[in-house]
Amino acid sequence: MTFILLPTTSRDRLAADIASTPQERARQLAFSRREFLRTAAGVALGRTLLGGHIARAGTAPKKRKVVVITFGGGARDQETFAPEGQENIPHLMRELIPQSSFFTQVVNRGILGHYVATASLATGVYETINNFSSLPPEHPTVFEYFRKDLKRPASDAWVVAPSNGFNRIGESNHRAYGSGLGARVILPKHLLTAATSGGSDYEHLLRDNYETPFYAPELGGSEFALQQLETMLKLSVDDFKAHALTLSSPDELSVYIARRLMRQFAPSLLWITLHDIDIAHAGAYSLYIEGIRRTDRLCADLWKAVQSEPEYAGKTTLFILPDFGRDSDDDSGGNGFQHHRTGDALSRTTWMMALGPGIREGVVFDRPMEPTDLVPTLGSMLGFSPSLAQGKPIPELL
Ligand SMILES: [Zn+2]
Repeated sequence: MTFILLPTTSRDRLAADIASTPQERARQLAFSRREFLRTAAGVALGRTLLGGHIARAGTAPKKRKVVVITFGGGARDQETFAPEGQENIPHLMRELIPQSSFFTQVVNRGILGHYVATASLATGVYETINNFSSLPPEHPTVFEYFRKDLKRPASDAWVVAPSNGFNRIGESNHRAYGSGLGARVILPKHLLTAATSGGSDYEHLLRDNYETPFYAPELGGSEFALQQLETMLKLSVDDFKAHALTLSSPDELSVYIARRLMRQFAPSLLWITLHDIDIAHAGAYSLYIEGIRRTDRLCADLWKAVQSEPEYAGKTTLFILPDFGRDSDDDSGGNGFQHHRTGDALSRTTWMMALGPGIREGVVFDRPMEPTDLVPTLGSMLGFSPSLAQGKPIPELL
């Protein structure tokens, strides 16, 4: 694949300067993102194909599986899709995007904190819970709709999440859903703490959150964590510890656990929240870039795992999307890549890709949509009714 360098960065900056409203800036960002992909990944513009005949795979909704990956705490185009960033995401650019339907204008209108934004992705409603407290979402999660409507057991919906702050994400406190209907949530770092009593050899894997303040209490229940390891994941504490020592980051630990879950339970709905990129808050650009490269590789690893597991191959749709982006260099209210504090168009205008049987391959769509559209789309794909979600199903994927 040859990448053609265009002088887009200065052109985009100019366009963004001229653009006056947040909507116009989002549109400009989506447009330049689309052009980057068209040039480098060779994708076609989706709207010209709409109405065309695309062959669909014949997987019945009952057998269909969905894996959702949230892309690591958010990254900017200049370190990812723009010509100068593409070297950081070779797997996305060369392997995954050419197989996917890609949406360039996913505008997040909610609170830009990782827990609350990920909870919003999972409920299809902009949640307003305190990002830094250990509270369940207020609206039913996708896991509850899925399990209640389709009468699925707890073992069929799992979340792998990065830190203790995400321990409530699997189940809302909504009266009509909630208790007992959510996903099982597995916190790999909690497993590792329980297995090692936080031994210093594993310090690099145990850093819990890259932002402050963080008030979530330490989770209890080490015994339950160890039981999860041994009886659910069929993994001895010693093997788990030995393997963890070979890993370079918390997200690698999450992907290792996700693969184990796929093998043991083959959940039909598996949600993996990656978070390494958010080390950007520490201010080291090189660690941020390293996080992006690792996340790129881990997304491709998970897609390969889907292809190699008989329970998943040929019947799984993979969604990859960030919870939100990061601040631009131009906004005086922020500090560039380091944070997501300004609420500017760059930190709100993200993307989403979907791939798998029945999904159009190598097409890009640049109409505006919102991250709250994910849950209704999953509802249409899998056959449940997310009645309280605010978003709309994405017709380009159905
Ligand atoms: Zn962050």
